[in-house]
Amino acid sequence: MADKSTAGPGAFLRGALPFTPAGAAGLFAAAELQDCAAHVLMTMAQVAPADVASTALGEKVNQGQSPLALGRGNAFERQLTRGVPSRLGVALGHNGLGTDLFVDVTRRVPMPPSGHGREEALRRREQATLDVLADGGAATVWQGALTVTLGKVAFRVQPDLIIRDDTGRLRVGEVKSWADNGPRTSGRALSSALGQVAVGDLALRQAGHVTVPEAVLVLARPRSSDASVRVQATGREKALIDDAARAFPQVASDALRRLPPGSTLDQSDTVRALPTAYGDLCRLRCALADWCRRRAVERGDPAVLGDAAAGDLEPGALLRGPNARPPLLQAAVDAHLRATGLTTAPTQAAEGDPTRA
Ligand code: SF4
Repeated sequence: MADKSTAGPGAFLRGALPFTPAGAAGLFAAAELQDCAAHVLMTMAQVAPADVASTALGEKVNQGQSPLALGRGNAFERQLTRGVPSRLGVALGHNGLGTDLFVDVTRRVPMPPSGHGREEALRRREQATLDVLADGGAATVWQGALTVTLGKVAFRVQPDLIIRDDTGRLRVGEVKSWADNGPRTSGRALSSALGQVAVGDLALRQAGHVTVPEAVLVLARPRSSDASVRVQATGREKALIDDAARAFPQVASDALRRLPPGSTLDQSDTVRALPTAYGDLCRLRCALADWCRRRAVERGDPAVLGDAAAGDLEPGALLRGPNARPPLLQAAVDAHLRATGLTTAPTQAAEGDPTRA
């Protein structure tokens, strides 16, 4: 029987693209980008937007994390969990979270060296995770695996930590090797980490567990090998992923209706036929961003000016001339048009400005 995570209503859409289900970060990105039917459909078909961009559209994309970032993350995790008590146990204990009793699911079920057998290993890791949780003890699960279902499509996610409190409720934690710089810590990075936690939280709730909508973020303490622990509410992220779980099936089936029979996501025509919704987040979260931005420029879509400006303009306004635009946006529109080659005409301000001679 096919593994449940390789099945799903979108499997026929993959064509020659590899089966690459989104992890927690990808699922949360899809939740944030759910106005874009193309992105939702790629997610539900369990293909990587980077593969669609390179195979169907011939785009050059940088894939995956850099080896440097991966190595740094792995070294940070090893440092945290080495010894008894471990730095992680001590840091969590200072925040009244969990015990120093960690069950490392990756030790119980090692991952095979190649991609072959990966799905089976993840299935067994999930079973090991659920066994520890069913036991009801105080152990914190380290590197567990869970299944989250959006519509009828199942995705495996791997939360770094699942911590039980005195009342038996669970919290999900993520370990990140970047520095906790207090209020100067990157809001974008924090938001993505909170989103990953919210996806793990949904998986636990779908498995029948009671959770606390709070993220335990374990970050690096600047100029120290110790960990910094933040506990942050995930109300917004939880609402977003819950909303996505409800909305995705309808968005995907509406998008499917626009495609002729036999369409697959490795074909340029298929991708071009799907509705998109280019916006600020695309550049951070989607490998098709360069392609979608060029299309938005060609269409005169004000989205290329950024979400805030786009809200004041109608579709096609960039192609209709200055009179269609609010005056305050004129300079930004002109600068953008010149930068993208849609017009080379200098603005009056630029002509009269002696500093630009
Ligand atoms: S970059 Fe394009 S495909 Fe990706 S989410 Fe944005 S609009 Fe959708």
